[in-house]
Amino acid sequence: MAKVAFIGLGNMGSGMAANLAKAGHEVRAFDLSEAALAKAEAAGCLRVASAAEAATDADAVVTMLPAGKHVEDVYENSIFGAAPKTAILIDCSTIDVATARKVIADAEAAGYQMVDAPVSGGIAAAEAGTLTFMCGGTESAFAAAKPFLEIMGKAVIHAGGAGAGQAAKICNNMLLGASMVATCETFALAQKLGLDPATFYAISSQASGQCWSMTSYCPVPGVGPETPADRDYEGGFATALMLKDLKLAMEAAQSVDAYTPMGAEAEVLYERFANLGGAGKDFSAIIKMIDDSWPK
Ligand code: NAD
Repeated sequence: MAKVAFIGLGNMGSGMAANLAKAGHEVRAFDLSEAALAKAEAAGCLRVASAAEAATDADAVVTMLPAGKHVEDVYENSIFGAAPKTAILIDCSTIDVATARKVIADAEAAGYQMVDAPVSGGIAAAEAGTLTFMCGGTESAFAAAKPFLEIMGKAVIHAGGAGAGQAAKICNNMLLGASMVATCETFALAQKLGLDPATFYAISSQASGQCWSMTSYCPVPGVGPETPADRDYEGGFATALMLKDLKLAMEAAQSVDAYTPMGAEAEVLYERFANLGGAGKDFSAIIKMIDDSWPK
């Protein structure tokens, strides 16, 4: 049984921390929100009064926070110094590549091993322990983090050096955002041309246009396997989070002078949809803006 500090027990962190506790680890939980702390306690974690207290004597520190500024603040002001140098530091938040690299460099300068380990999979996968982790860091840091990540996920992949996990995450989600928009406009056009959506699905899912956004996450209700489209686009992966990831991808693209016209257009469209009130809907709901059925 290891002592694990878990900071950030929101939608994702609560399920992840619960799985570590279920596996027999002593999970010391800290969050700024009282409701999040109460939920963590009910799931078998020990609530503590600060991130630094959680990190004291810890074998591992796991963070699942909103953005880069929160991650930098928590590590620089509460974890470094408080955690023993033997603790493996694992940031699972989705943040910008530059901050991930900076915090890991600072951790290493302070004598720690650290990985960035963002996830693919939403709240249901966090609760079920079936996330996919993409990790950046040294071989030795990855090896130290892996046993903890394996409890929370079904796949744990070493993507490369510091920041490589974040790079893999935003590249994947840029492809997802662009392919979802392409899938939505394709179904909208097919319908305007008189094609039945189910018939078009039967054809395209077996032809060269097939992609994950179509066959695993079809944005049209009643077509293909059950998806958020069949629940009025509730649950799933919120438009606001897709927009966040597209912004991170565009920021990263700019930093290395990469030409990403499809990613840039996806960002513009998701921003417009969020501003029209779609931020809380699943990201496949953008089909309603594209086919002009979203209320204006
Ligand atoms: P959330 O807002 O539900 O949870 C974040 C938690 O961090 C909150 O409970 C908040 O109180 C806490 N927090 C913020 N600052 C803190 C601090 N200084 N100290 C302690 N606690 C602090 O967000 P979420 O949906 O759980 O997402 C967390 C991360 O996972 C984000 O980076 C997000 O992009 C990523 N992610 C989310 C999903 C998803 O489906 N929700 C999927 C993949 C990745």
